[in-house]
Amino acid sequence: MKEFPGTSGLILNEPLLWEKGKKGRCGFSLPRRDVESYPVSKDLLGEGPDFPDLSEVDIVRHYTRLSQWNFAVDSGMYPLGSCTMKYNPKTNERQAAQQGFAAAHPMLPPNLSQGILKLMYDLERFLVEITGMDAATLQPAAGAHGELTGMLLFYAYHRSQGAPRSKIIVPDTAHGTNPASAALCGYRPVPIKSNDNGVLAPEDVAAVMDEETAGIMVTNPNTLGLFEDNIKKIAEIVHAKGGLVYGDGANMNAVMGIVHMGEIGIDVLHLNLHKTFSTPHGGGGPGSGPVCVMKQLAPFLPVPRVIEKKGRYFLAENYPESIGKLHAFNGTVGVQIRAYSYILSMGGKNLKKASQLAVLNANYIKERLKQTFHLPYDRPCMHECVFSDKLQQVYKVTTLDMVKRLMDYGFHPPTIYFPLVVPGAIMIEPTETESKEDIDLFIDAMKAIVREAEENPDLLHASPGRTRRRRLDETTAARKPCLRG
Ligand SMILES: *Cc1c(COP(=O)(O)O)cnc(C)c1O
Repeated sequence: MKEFPGTSGLILNEPLLWEKGKKGRCGFSLPRRDVESYPVSKDLLGEGPDFPDLSEVDIVRHYTRLSQWNFAVDSGMYPLGSCTMKYNPKTNERQAAQQGFAAAHPMLPPNLSQGILKLMYDLERFLVEITGMDAATLQPAAGAHGELTGMLLFYAYHRSQGAPRSKIIVPDTAHGTNPASAALCGYRPVPIKSNDNGVLAPEDVAAVMDEETAGIMVTNPNTLGLFEDNIKKIAEIVHAKGGLVYGDGANMNAVMGIVHMGEIGIDVLHLNLHKTFSTPHGGGGPGSGPVCVMKQLAPFLPVPRVIEKKGRYFLAENYPESIGKLHAFNGTVGVQIRAYSYILSMGGKNLKKASQLAVLNANYIKERLKQTFHLPYDRPCMHECVFSDKLQQVYKVTTLDMVKRLMDYGFHPPTIYFPLVVPGAIMIEPTETESKEDIDLFIDAMKAIVREAEENPDLLHASPGRTRRRRLDETTAARKPCLRG
């Protein structure tokens, strides 16, 4: 095996802190007491928590070792398609940690929170400009929450027209959250298939669109990494029947400042700040899923809304048609600060360039691996490309075997078995932040694994072999987690 940055020795074992503690050790010194001591009754104090006694070294090594068991964008390439696991510049963390932001209480009156209100106001304007929409809310806490907001906006809009509707069209390539959000809002999701090119055909939309249908949810670029090139025609069909078009903007990393979402017919669009706009999101949080809308939907946006009057900023509640409040206080403010800092430090030109590079990198991988893996849709892709394990099936090697082996080569596996329309899918999103050298190393590793599949399939069935834990029973691990070391 050629030298890859995979794991080897010096990954240390580590017991639980409770097993490590020794009575009398101490890792922290309290400041000398400068007030009189006061006796507190034993009933109030109780038994006290069962914390182990540990030295500073014990604690530092414990958490440092645990952190090395994990994989992160900071330690290597993380080509998880659909998730946009790009490198997040550290300056954004520093800005979010500034005391004026981090220590501010959300109930401070507006005259003491002008800074954060201005930041929120400006961030809404930036997102509106980047997407080509008219207005925005920063309240939703994630993409799925943005979808729910969008569905509530659809409902409020149709009700204002005097006729609430009952169905939503959702393509078969959609992220699972799309039909779930529609259903949570009381709509019945109506699935439609994508065509042989992996995109939606206008006639398929026309066949199901009727006056009982509130609209359609379209992910663009879609989850196959393909641009929905019939989107304008589809929007016309939906609008002609009084419906609305929801854009799932989770894949915005491919089209920042390039596609004017309003012009292609999108009425409501969510963004994932934790994907596209630079917030680390491994392990499930925190997130932020702002929703941008066209003018006719602005009256229904959640309250409070940030407004500006003569250079001062306020939170305004008086929007009688609003769908109400969707998040405590102002949403996930820490993530908003990171996005604001990212957008300002990049500038319009570089945001566009980031998207161009993300698309270039994905197409480079697609071209260099398409002789090695089956490529179901052989056409230019956006920021991610989707292969399958069809060519490796003769060796009885599956997508799962191959990506498990990839860990031995030092890479996080790509997204697998999604989207569902491609059996055995391997969905790769390199993002703009990987260098050509790292991408080449990834391609070499993928090719080496396919050679191993041909010569020694058992090696792949038993992989990973160089990681701390080998092949897990993932179902049992999720259903009956064992949290001991
Ligand atoms: C990630 C993603 C979502 C859901 O976003 P969360 O922030 O995880 O709730 C929805 N649609 C697509 C296409 C996505 O990739």
